[in-house]
Amino acid sequence: MSSREENPPLRAETRWKDRAETVIIGGGCVGVSLAYHLAKAGMKDVVLLEKSELTAGSTWHAAGLTTYFHPGINLKKIHYDSIKLYEKLEEETGQVVGFHQPGSIRIATTPVRVDEFKYQMTRTGWHATEQYIIEPEKIQEMFPLLNMNKILAGLYNPGDGHIDPYSLTMALAAGARKYGALLKYPAPVTSLKPKSDGTWDVETPQGSMRANRIVNAAGFWAREVGKMVGLEHPLIPVQHQYVVTSTIPEVKALKRELPVLRDLEGSYYLRQERDGLLFGPYESQEKMKVQDSWVTSGVPPGFGKELFESDLDRIMEHVEAAMEMVPVLKKADIINIVNGPITYSPDILPMVGPHQGVRNYWVAIGFGYGIIHAGGVGKYLSDWILHGEPPFDLIELDPNRYGKWTTTQYTEAKARESYGFNNIGKVQIYCCL
Ligand SMILES: Cc1cc2nc3c(=O)[nH]c(=O)nc-3n(C[C@H](O)[C@H](O)[C@H](O)COP(=O)(O)OP(=O)(O)OC[C@H]3O[C@@H](n4cnc5c(N)ncnc54)[C@H](O)[C@@H]3O)c2cc1C
Repeated sequence: MSSREENPPLRAETRWKDRAETVIIGGGCVGVSLAYHLAKAGMKDVVLLEKSELTAGSTWHAAGLTTYFHPGINLKKIHYDSIKLYEKLEEETGQVVGFHQPGSIRIATTPVRVDEFKYQMTRTGWHATEQYIIEPEKIQEMFPLLNMNKILAGLYNPGDGHIDPYSLTMALAAGARKYGALLKYPAPVTSLKPKSDGTWDVETPQGSMRANRIVNAAGFWAREVGKMVGLEHPLIPVQHQYVVTSTIPEVKALKRELPVLRDLEGSYYLRQERDGLLFGPYESQEKMKVQDSWVTSGVPPGFGKELFESDLDRIMEHVEAAMEMVPVLKKADIINIVNGPITYSPDILPMVGPHQGVRNYWVAIGFGYGIIHAGGVGKYLSDWILHGEPPFDLIELDPNRYGKWTTTQYTEAKARESYGFNNIGKVQIYCCL
């Protein structure tokens, strides 16, 4: 189902600029989306500097899930803007993005979870997106491979699905270029020097550039970029895994793509991948793995487009829960386990906006769910940069909610707790995937 192979990588740029209005550091889905939005809105001299190649951080290997659902009111709008953009990107840029929208069902197997769904329904009127509570019969009709024994209800979001993150980023990059942005790679930013007039000298081995504004969109390297301007961003690298199976005859025999499933008590997401299944668990805070060495010593200089070693034992209880819920998994072969780094902030939400500690330094960092957030956040931030104030209230993403008091010890303890709260035994607080 992935369309990764259908889009060749964009050719590298040979141009260089000495001056830029905005320099974005990092060519993952978030940075590229911002470049696209700024250039499309008419900003001249938008430059994105990427240290190796576009998508080379967390983006290339993401599971690509997209959803209209968010437990918070404000972030629902970000999700909405992302999905609406992704729906039209292929037509606008000519790049295939591999967007599938079979809908999604969140499964309730406890009365508390049914109550949570009812609560979520009281908030649907705030937004244009559809959301319904559905009965077990309807769930079975939509997802015939389910074991219905424990299922009490489902929260159904039509239009949810998944997108190929690589192709999405390439399409945004093609759009950014079309509207005049310069996307330069390889161009690792090695130093950032503030000037007395508020501008920045941005240095790379390829040359230096004067920028009116810089935006840190460096993914799990964001702490390293923050240090260049004297800031300690409270971010923790976490290992997150998903499992892909080979073809399952019962999946292959289906006439239409299965909706994405989220078993909240089992704490995993599950979607169709070609004629097999892909599922990704969120472990408890005790079991999850923080990449501790990166917290103490930074990302190893040589680490590039790489993955961690897979660890099936760590997610075994979720694998078993998934096998119980979707019994065809029991006879499926696992053909791939992806274990990649994500950055989490203490409260699981990204940091987006100008940093009040340093003049003309903006951030778009700490994305645990960057694929669904990239489109909407790129638009939000671009509006803010261009018009001088945020287009709507997203106070929960304010980078200045953290400060000098946010020690590494605090960040790690809270990020661990937040990741563990993704689903398990709790209502969804901020988690959406
Ligand atoms: C296994 C897994 C599955 C996931 N599944 C989903 C999902 O289904 N849906 C979802 O929404 N999210 C998912 N995510 C999360 C998602 O992948 C990330 O939130 C998202 O990719 C972050 O994008 P980004 O642009 O912020 O960072 P990145 O993609 O990490 O990009 C940062 C870029 O900055 C560059 N860079 C760093 N330092 C410098 C420098 N000094 N100079 C120049 N460039 C620099 C890097 O090379 C990199 O390309 C998943 C993550 C993992 C690990």
